[in-house]
Amino acid sequence: MSDWSEEHLHQDYRQSLRVDRLIYDSETDHQRLRVFENARFGRVLTLDGVVQTTEGDEFIYHEMLTHVPILAHGSARRVLIIGGGDGGMAREVLRHPDVAHVTMVEIDAGVVEFSRRYLPSLSAGAFDDPRLELVIDDGAAFMRGEGPLFDVIIVDSTDPVGPGEVLFTDTFYGHARARLAKGGILVTQNGVPFMQGGELTNTMRAFRALFSDWGCYLASIPTYAGGPMAFGWGTDGTARQTDVAELSRRMAAAALSPRYYTPEVHKAAFALPGYVARLMPTG
Ligand code: SAM
Repeated sequence: MSDWSEEHLHQDYRQSLRVDRLIYDSETDHQRLRVFENARFGRVLTLDGVVQTTEGDEFIYHEMLTHVPILAHGSARRVLIIGGGDGGMAREVLRHPDVAHVTMVEIDAGVVEFSRRYLPSLSAGAFDDPRLELVIDDGAAFMRGEGPLFDVIIVDSTDPVGPGEVLFTDTFYGHARARLAKGGILVTQNGVPFMQGGELTNTMRAFRALFSDWGCYLASIPTYAGGPMAFGWGTDGTARQTDVAELSRRMAAAALSPRYYTPEVHKAAFALPGYVARLMPTG
């Protein structure tokens, strides 16, 4: 009889992945970490029972939260990642040779330590890159502080429950905006609108008050169940206007060969279906 990992993120909907081999299961000071193998998705990381990332589909999520803002920006040198303990986001950011410095603020050292050991394909050496500065701290506390400005800020957090909750507040977004350099871009993991539409509306309401260019873009990641996931987008710059030809030029200059991202997909990702567009704040 197989064991199953059942995700209870939503009160009225559950998804289960078969546990073909349990690799790690432990509590840290912040959350319960599990890694198990599944025939279809490879190694799967869950935190408090919620799928965080899988070897099988993580490339979609990590490519879209990094290459979209960085290629749109065009001259990002300093990038900040909030969360991202598995190292996949850092891996993709560090593929950009012009990025000189990546600060990663992760609340749970246990996620980093065990991801390095049990999910090495995700970080793929990112933690040993001299450009990466790993800070173990609450991202909200870090953002409140004084410090350098960033060209791109990526919030790669858990969902707004537990330690991730503070990263979905107006206060946090306001502090993030204050840490953006001129033309800087803030992007956020903002859940699956079909299942978590209220979270997206709340974030967009905050972004509307903070940024001249605000909105979201979409990509479907199979293990984030319920349809496409939304990524919040906020900037006072003109990066959204970067066209396919220029994105293609920048992608070639960076010698990127993504498995999901293309310049055409980048532009199309901002085209919202009606049910998502209707979640945007009005009035
Ligand atoms: N891709 C996943 C998703 O979309 O839900 C996120 C993956 S990543 C593992 C999420 C990380 O956010 C975890 O390592 C978790 O420890 C971290 N995290 C949660 N709350 C945080 C906070 N307040 N400050 C910094 N990191 C936080």
